Amino acid sequence: MRLLLVEDHADLLQSLTAELRQAGYAVDVATDGEQALFLGETEEYDVAVLDLGLPILGGLEVLTRWRAAGRDLLVLILTARDSWMEKVEGLKAGADDYLTKPFHTEELLARLQALLRRRHGQLQRELRVNDLVLDEEHQQVRFDQGGTVGLTGTEFRLLRYFMMNPGKPLSKTRLIEHVYDQDFDRDSNLIEVYVRRLREKIGRDRIETRRGQGYVFRG
Ligand code: CA
Repeated sequence: MRLLLVEDHADLLQSLTAELRQAGYAVDVATDGEQALFLGETEEYDVAVLDLGLPILGGLEVLTRWRAAGRDLLVLILTARDSWMEKVEGLKAGADDYLTKPFHTEELLARLQALLRRRHGQLQRELRVNDLVLDEEHQQVRFDQGGTVGLTGTEFRLLRYFMMNPGKPLSKTRLIEHVYDQDFDRDSNLIEVYVRRLREKIGRDRIETRRGQGYVFRG
C-alpha cells in the first residue's frame, strides 16, 4: 500500500516514516501543504496521513482541494489535542478518520489497517483470500492446511496488494504505483521478479498472468 505522510514536524516525520515503512507501507513524504497538494493530485496513493497544521497551505485546504479534484485516496487527519472543531471540519471536508496528537504509532497502524480493509471489502480481522491468511504483524502468510511462510518487505507489500484486490486484473504499472515509493527505481521487470518469488512461496497457480493486462490474484 502506498502512503503519503504529510507532517511538518521533522522528528515526528522521521520516526513515523521509519515505523510506517517497517509496517510494510511504501511511504512518500511532504512537509508543507503545497507539496502535499501536488503529490496527492499526481501520484496514486492508497492512503494519506495528513497533519492539519502545515506551512504554506493548511491540511484542511489540501484535503478540500483533493476531494474537489476527485481524488478518493483514504485520508486520516492528525489534529491538535482539544480541537474538536478541527475534527468536525476535517470529517466534513472528506477525511475518513482522525487521530489526536500525541498518539501511539500502534493506534495509527491499527486505524490505517482498518480503513484499508474496509475500503477493499475485507471485513474480517485478518486479510484472507480462500485458504491464505496474511499475518500483517509478522509479515508472513499462513495456509489453512498448515504451515507459514515468511515474506521479505517487497513480497509482503506485493502480496497484500494482491490480496486486497483478488480476481481483478492488475497491470504492472498499477502494482508498481501501489507497492513502491517515489524514490524507488520503477523498473517493471522487478515486478516480474517478485511475482516469480511469490509464486515459489505460495504456489504458482495463485497468480495468473494475463497477456497484455498484467496479473490476476486467484488466492
Ligand atoms: Ca504541524
